Amino acid sequence: MRTQSLRGWMDVLQREGTLKTVSRDVSLEFELAALGKKADGKHTLLFNKVGKGNMPVITGIAGSRASFAKAVGVPVEELVAAFMQAQANPRDCVMVEKSAAPVKEEITLDVDLTKLPIPIHHEKDGGPYLTAAVLISKDPKTGARNLSIHRLHVLGPKKLGILILPRHLHHFFRAAEDEGKPLEIALAIGLDPILLLASQAIAPLGFDEYTIASALYDSPLELVKCETVDLEVPAQAEIVLEGYLVPKAREIEGPFGEYPKYYGPASLKPVVELTAMTTRKNPIFQTIVPATMEHMLLGAIPREGGMLQIIKGAVPNARAVHLTPGGTCRYHAVVSIDKQHEGEAKNAMFAAFASSQEVKRVVVVDKDVDIFDPIDVEWAIATRCQAGRDVFIVERALGNKLDPSSDDGISDKMGIDATVPLGADPFRFERIRIPRENQIRLEDYFD
Ligand code: MN
Repeated sequence: MRTQSLRGWMDVLQREGTLKTVSRDVSLEFELAALGKKADGKHTLLFNKVGKGNMPVITGIAGSRASFAKAVGVPVEELVAAFMQAQANPRDCVMVEKSAAPVKEEITLDVDLTKLPIPIHHEKDGGPYLTAAVLISKDPKTGARNLSIHRLHVLGPKKLGILILPRHLHHFFRAAEDEGKPLEIALAIGLDPILLLASQAIAPLGFDEYTIASALYDSPLELVKCETVDLEVPAQAEIVLEGYLVPKAREIEGPFGEYPKYYGPASLKPVVELTAMTTRKNPIFQTIVPATMEHMLLGAIPREGGMLQIIKGAVPNARAVHLTPGGTCRYHAVVSIDKQHEGEAKNAMFAAFASSQEVKRVVVVDKDVDIFDPIDVEWAIATRCQAGRDVFIVERALGNKLDPSSDDGISDKMGIDATVPLGADPFRFERIRIPRENQIRLEDYFD
């Protein structure tokens, strides 16, 4: 059984020595984000003295594939497969009483966001932002539960502006708004890496992402009922904010420094009104510094799992997928296949594009290429690909609005086949190799 709480995960980080505590004064404006960015992938930072209050802030709870793999309890090479497995074999959650839920230790209906240590991350951000809150909602028609993470701009003591991309929450909100009704939501803050990962699953509408977390924990996730809305939230969370999306209301949200390393511009966006806050005693506030590896991998790992599953449906001998950091962990995919038939590379590309609207470039390589090594992937493109024959472009499909080169989200898609043609002379494409190179240790030869 894996830990279901941020505190349990902090114990693991403490033991491995990667959790660093910062007890000197740190400003919530830029300084905290700068430190989080410098520690990205190396240390988790726990700030004890930020802003005016005394609530600690944690950031960078998992900044590498190795760290997420440790949380899931598998070797790093098996991380994406483990996520895919969990998504294919979801498990039920369990409801617990309020008395058994740490997040109910303190309850207030008088929410005041100005009392929380919410950072301003980037130079031109419109204000403080919640970046690590998992939003829980239900389909107003079917009652199916959904998890998602959104950028949430603090607009007042009880008010947040929210960016809702055209995915599941968008669908629910439109249905509620069409009837002039509010859509109830809850925001859980202070979670472990598994629950954050599960919230990012690429799953069909109606799929309850909590059940992926239960499968990854290998034990039912503990949930507890909310106070003012008909929703269930993780019992082990540090902080839960309850409220609703206001029908027909729009206010200026943004700008906000996003994962593509550009600002998402300010514009009129939907608004959340908060109705209650429940917390642990002495809660820890969690933030994710945008565009860090922590942020990028939270998008990449679940997408790779979902994408590989869909590609395998089209090309059963697809082996692995990598959403590269240079491609923002969203836009550029590398797919490894064990090619058996000519044309499979193209079919793998079609499936990859269909699996996620954000993907705009797919490179398909043979199984001898290390898809996590950008030099090896570029070598495959350089030596196994001719643009006239092996590259195709589909213009003006749906992409991602946060890509500044897109036409408000309308984006071209490019497929690059960097696999060796099946009929080719094998020696022409034989990779050079020095026998026993891998067994020889240079140090053993030094005088
Ligand atoms: Mn969903």
